[in-house]
Amino acid sequence: MNEDFYELLGVSRDASADDIKRAYRKAARKLHPDVNPSEDAADQMKKVSQAYETLSNPEKRRMYDMGGGTGGFGGFGGGGASFDFSDIFDMFTGGQGRAQGPIPRQRRGNDILRRVAVSLDDIVFGSEAEVDFRTAVACTRCSGSCCEPGTSPSRCSTCSGTGHVQRVTQSLLGQMVQMAPCSVCHGHGDVIENPCTECSGHGRVQQKRTITVTIPSGLENGTRIQLRGEGEVGEAAGPSGDLFVEIAIEDHDTFHRDGTNLIARITVSMVAAALGTTITLPTFDGDKEVQIRPGTQPGEIITLDGFGITQFRSDKRGDIHLDVDVEIPTKLSREQQDLLRQFADARDEPDVAEAPRNAANEPRTAGRKSRFSKLRDRLRDL
Ligand SMILES: [Zn+2]
Ligand SMILES: [Zn+2]
Repeated sequence: MNEDFYELLGVSRDASADDIKRAYRKAARKLHPDVNPSEDAADQMKKVSQAYETLSNPEKRRMYDMGGGTGGFGGFGGGGASFDFSDIFDMFTGGQGRAQGPIPRQRRGNDILRRVAVSLDDIVFGSEAEVDFRTAVACTRCSGSCCEPGTSPSRCSTCSGTGHVQRVTQSLLGQMVQMAPCSVCHGHGDVIENPCTECSGHGRVQQKRTITVTIPSGLENGTRIQLRGEGEVGEAAGPSGDLFVEIAIEDHDTFHRDGTNLIARITVSMVAAALGTTITLPTFDGDKEVQIRPGTQPGEIITLDGFGITQFRSDKRGDIHLDVDVEIPTKLSREQQDLLRQFADARDEPDVAEAPRNAANEPRTAGRKSRFSKLRDRLRDL
C-alpha cells in the first residue's frame, strides 16, 4: 500500500511535469491490457495511474510530498473509481481517436443529371439549350448559416463542443471507452437553437433554376456535359455538386448520322434517273440544288462535300451522302403502258411486247410530299 509514487513511475522527486507524463505513458504502454493481459499488469496499471493522477496535479503532488493524505490506493477497492483507458488509447493512436473533432455541418451538394433533347441541327453547328431543373440553392435569409439572422449556434453542453461522447463498455480486457457521436448535436459540437425559418436550419432551399448550356457541335448521342458547381448547393453553404447535362439527339426526318457525315436516301423517278434532273434538297445550310446526272443507277451515292456535321472543337465539317433510289412505277394507265412499249420497241427490247397488259390503273402519284416519308422508312433499314 505504501509504494512510493515516484518509484512507481520511475522518476526522481524533482521530476518535471513533462518527465512524469512521459514516465506514465511509458508505463501505460507496457501495462496496457492489449499488450499485457495479466492480472498483475492490471493491478500495476491501477497503481501507476493513481500515482500519475496525484503527481500530475500540482496541488495533489504538493500534498503528497508533504506526506498528506492522498489516500494511497485505498480508493480503488470498491468505489469503482476506474481510470479512463481512453487516455491510454489516445497515447497509442497519437490522440487521433479523440482529436477527430466535431463533424462539420457543411456537406457537399449532390450532383444532378438532366437529359436534354437537342435536334440534329443543334449538333451540326453547335447550339445552346435551356435546362430547367429543381435544385437546392443557398438560403438567402440566413446565407447558409442555418440560423435566424442575428443568432448563431451555441456550443453543445452535452459534449462540450467536441461532437463526441464517451461510451464505456465492459469487455474481457476490462473497461473499454469508445467515442460515439453526440446525439444532442449530432456530432456537430454546436446546437442551432434558432433555426432559420426560411430553410428550417439547412442553409438551403429547393428552387427551380434555368440555365443556358452551350451544346458544342459534333457531340455524340448520350454525351454528358459537366457543369462544375451547378448542381445542388451543399447543406450549410457546403460546396455545390455538379450538373451533368446528357444530350439526347432527336431523330431527323431526312438525315441519318454517321459520325460527322449525314446520310439521306433520295428517290428519283425512273425517267428522271434516265434523263437526268435537278432536285432541291433541304439541308442544314438551306436548300441545295443537287444534279442527278443522266443514267444515274439505283444505289449510286452523291456526295455534297462539307455540308455535314461540324466536328467537335473544330471547324471541319463532314459530308452529306445521298443514296439514290430509282422508283419503278407500279401502276400504269393503258396510255402509259403503250408509251413504254413504244419505248421498248425503239430500243429493240423484244420481251416487253409480249408481256401481258396490266389492268388499266391511274398512275401512282409519287409527288415530293411523300418523298421524305419514304426516305424515312428506308433510312430505318440502313
Ligand atoms: Zn436559411
Ligand atoms: Zn453535442
